[in-house]
Amino acid sequence: MSDYVFPPPPQPSVAVRGTSARYAVSRIFCVGRNYAAHAREMGSDPDREPPFFFCKPASALAESGSTIPYPPGTTNYHYEMELVIALGAPVFKATPEQAAASIWGYAAGLDMTRRDLQNAAKATGRPWDFGKAFEQSAVITELVPAAEIGHPVAGAITLAVNGEEQQRGDLSDMIWRTAEVVANLSQYYHLGPGDLIYTGTPEGVGPVQPGDRLEGRIEGVARLALTIGAPE
Ligand code: MN
Repeated sequence: MSDYVFPPPPQPSVAVRGTSARYAVSRIFCVGRNYAAHAREMGSDPDREPPFFFCKPASALAESGSTIPYPPGTTNYHYEMELVIALGAPVFKATPEQAAASIWGYAAGLDMTRRDLQNAAKATGRPWDFGKAFEQSAVITELVPAAEIGHPVAGAITLAVNGEEQQRGDLSDMIWRTAEVVANLSQYYHLGPGDLIYTGTPEGVGPVQPGDRLEGRIEGVARLALTIGAPE
């Protein structure tokens, strides 16, 4: 048995609907732009550019239903409502068909973003980490196994802030379908169980303030809730 100079950090994990067993998380990948209208609102041409990715640490997970503090270092803290894929089998250099077979389940998630820091990084060609990969920036509902709900390819994806709808898209509007996202990413990584992929957000992203209540829904998948707390 190994000995550590400090206790190992807790294993990040996500609840699974219908069981007390949890899904242990290793990595979180996120697609940068995957809905044409959102790509346009962020100032780029969405015409089938290859998908690109960034990462968040698994320790950035926050459970749906929780209250999370307004994060430090930003005055422009944004929501991005997204479908999340959870992989359940090894997949490497896969075709979309092989990639589809590796998807074990789905969740609804929020890719919380310090937009001012992300925009500053974009403008200077620096990494996005401070804008994207910070504490409690990966909000997620419980996972729902594909064995129960199938592989959602269409359905409304919405987000409301304080009861007012801000984002509305449809999963069928994704530029890169879930299997294509996994197939592309698998050209670069040995993927497998423990890997989550946030698949991008539709248009309508915007800022939140302390006290705001967020409610998201992905038809046929899950409902998400989040409250923004006071800054620490
Ligand atoms: Mn996103």
